[in-house]
Amino acid sequence: MAAYDPKNIFAAILKGQLPSHKVYEDELTYAFMDIMPRAEGHVLVIPKAPSRNILDMEPEDLAAVARTIKKVALAARETFKADGITILQANESAGGQVVFHTHFHVLPRWNGVPLRPAAQEVEKPDVLAAQAEQLRKALDG
Ligand code: AMP
Repeated sequence: MAAYDPKNIFAAILKGQLPSHKVYEDELTYAFMDIMPRAEGHVLVIPKAPSRNILDMEPEDLAAVARTIKKVALAARETFKADGITILQANESAGGQVVFHTHFHVLPRWNGVPLRPAAQEVEKPDVLAAQAEQLRKALDG
């Protein structure tokens, strides 16, 4: 497996070198809106520590990310009146991974509504900002 590349886009987001619509942050994890959402309210949860994916990730970071996924999933269900939540995570190109900093997709789902294809359309920043604000409120409440 290749080494972690510290110049990947999620590392740049963590360093504040690229913008993101923040949903949640704690000591070990960061959650933000996916810019090409496969569902309304599509959030990415990442560890702050560098790793390509779960194959080289520290178990403690995986545990911290799992706790954040649960928080975000509950907030997303409430905020978007979702019937269900899909969690997706890809490892290496063969596993469907495109960005090589570990990330989990939290996807609100509604009965009868299929997921959109990946990397199809960039969402408007004001839509993502409004969704992130709604999620932050739900997480604070
Ligand atoms: P994966 O295919 O699992 O590696 O997912 C990568 C995800 O990152 C895709 O869903 C992209 O839409 C998303 N993405 C790419 N660039 C950005 C970015 N700058 N901010 C937020 N999400 C991004």
